[in-house]
Amino acid sequence: MDFDTPLAEAWVRAIAAAVEKEQGRLTELDSAIGDGDHGSNLRRGFSAALAALDGLRPAGPGAVLTKVGSTLISKVGGASGPLYGKAFRAIGAALPDPALADPTDPAGPAAVAEALAAGLDAVRTLGKAVPGDKTIVDAYTPAVAAFRAAAGAGATLPEAAAAAAEAADQGARDTVPLQARKGRASYLGERSIGHQDPGATSTALLFRALADVTAS
Ligand code: ADP
Ligand code: MG
Repeated sequence: MDFDTPLAEAWVRAIAAAVEKEQGRLTELDSAIGDGDHGSNLRRGFSAALAALDGLRPAGPGAVLTKVGSTLISKVGGASGPLYGKAFRAIGAALPDPALADPTDPAGPAAVAEALAAGLDAVRTLGKAVPGDKTIVDAYTPAVAAFRAAAGAGATLPEAAAAAAEAADQGARDTVPLQARKGRASYLGERSIGHQDPGATSTALLFRALADVTAS
């Protein structure tokens, strides 16, 4: 299995559905340590992304994800819009162009791992968060590490995506005891301890959606 255009579109649809379903939970988490808009921010962003893909004739999977990124940046206020927007643009830009890539492996697990890693780099460059700051980075970093390790060990795309999803879930749960050092939650100081980070939670949803669409 390769990361082709239909798979990229299926991933975006699965994210939109997951965000719709989990909007309440994301809002609840963001109400505890933020301003309660994370669920609605992402819902607005990914429904706009779906609309933007409608009628688009993408040149490849990279073009799909680049479009998603630009849409998130333009439609989502709040920290998460530019962060996820830059991430998707970087993932899209890093995916091999099918016209140029090695036809025997256009976008196999190793290439997808590097594209996802480029997304993490974009988040870190923009947001300046490091692991342990109680942000998106705390789910995204272990997910990329797991994806890379699996791909390096010869895993298939579904296997690598499943490993990444597990690692992202764990990373999100591991934010509970952390004190936030970036974003709105950092204003709470020690009172941010004891709550799961909303952005790390939505990152886990993104990786779970990728695992689901590659498995089906
Ligand atoms: P806002 O905080 O502007 O209301 P959201 O509620 O949509 O935006 O997103 C909040 C999430 O954004 C946080 O839970 C955190 O995971 C993430 N976040 C905030 N600042 C940063 C940052 N500098 N780097 C990475 N992630 C961040
Ligand atoms: Mg918020």
